[in-house]
Amino acid sequence: MTGLMTGLMTGLLTGLMTGLLTSPLTSLLTVLLQPQVIIWKSYVGIDIGGTTVKLGLFTEEGNLVDKWEITTRKEESGRYILSDVAKSIENKIEERNLSKDQIVGIGVGVPGPVTADGTVIQCVNLGWEIVNVANEVKALTGFQAKVGNDANVAALGEMWQGGGKGYNSIVLVTLGTGVGGGVIVDGQIITGSNGAAGEIGHLLVNYEEKDKCGCGKTGCLEQFASATGIVKEAKRLLSKSTEPSKLREYEQLSAKNIFDCAKENDKLALELVDQLGRYLGIALSHVAAVVDPQAFVIGGGVSKAGSILTDAVKKYYNQYVMLALKNKEFNLAELGNDAGIFGCARLILGH
Ligand SMILES: [Zn+2]
Repeated sequence: MTGLMTGLMTGLLTGLMTGLLTSPLTSLLTVLLQPQVIIWKSYVGIDIGGTTVKLGLFTEEGNLVDKWEITTRKEESGRYILSDVAKSIENKIEERNLSKDQIVGIGVGVPGPVTADGTVIQCVNLGWEIVNVANEVKALTGFQAKVGNDANVAALGEMWQGGGKGYNSIVLVTLGTGVGGGVIVDGQIITGSNGAAGEIGHLLVNYEEKDKCGCGKTGCLEQFASATGIVKEAKRLLSKSTEPSKLREYEQLSAKNIFDCAKENDKLALELVDQLGRYLGIALSHVAAVVDPQAFVIGGGVSKAGSILTDAVKKYYNQYVMLALKNKEFNLAELGNDAGIFGCARLILGH
């Protein structure tokens, strides 16, 4: 039974028992009309992105009670972002008739490296230079705050209520516009000395590559396993092969088209999925040798391809990894864009 339902049932029972002494109908109505009876302790998760800030209200059991969004105001070096967030939380507390004592704390995810004390050194996406987000949020709201990098908190969220549920050591790889990663060992996010740990997208997987990655290196996983990387590789293959393929029919080829064609046994599409599996398999075998997780969780838009993707990764992972690390779980992420707010709330719960 969900925490929300438990709260509701407890509230109803209390209401009905009181109702035996007064009027049952009045008591029942009183209970149903008071939302604060339902939520005992609330955890706020805030995922700050370049265009929107996602906010969520959670119970201790990890149930998402309410979620909403506000626009990320990046003008004037992003100076209004945190005060907008504070105002939005205050409005929500009022709207849901919550008491401030019910809010245990606020977890915040930001799109950039974060140090252990909640400081962001530079966050280009938000226009921030050095900001101690934890202190600022506490000063603006009065609630304790914990801060994490967005990819890391997404990993924590997936471990709490998504594709990594039931485990306490997982690695999340997100295949989207770029390739991101989050590493959780024994329930703790591995942040590293500069908050830049878990950058799985920039592991070297191809020594021959000549094109540069956005990070300045060449041959990074991101260049082959991001949505754009997959399409780029497809175009390369199509131009050097004479093999007939349905892929040639698309005017604007997408990663999804490639998986769809592979599922219909298109030879070149299958070759591309196999190559993607090999690059991911190489990278994750290296990750496993360092952190030995219980499971890998694959997320991001590309992961919608499903088992055809995880099967390809598993095949090469098991081929490249040492014996003691073979046969890990490979799961698909389940929380989508909500992984961040889940993980942010979990930051506070684990504090
Ligand atoms: Zn790179």
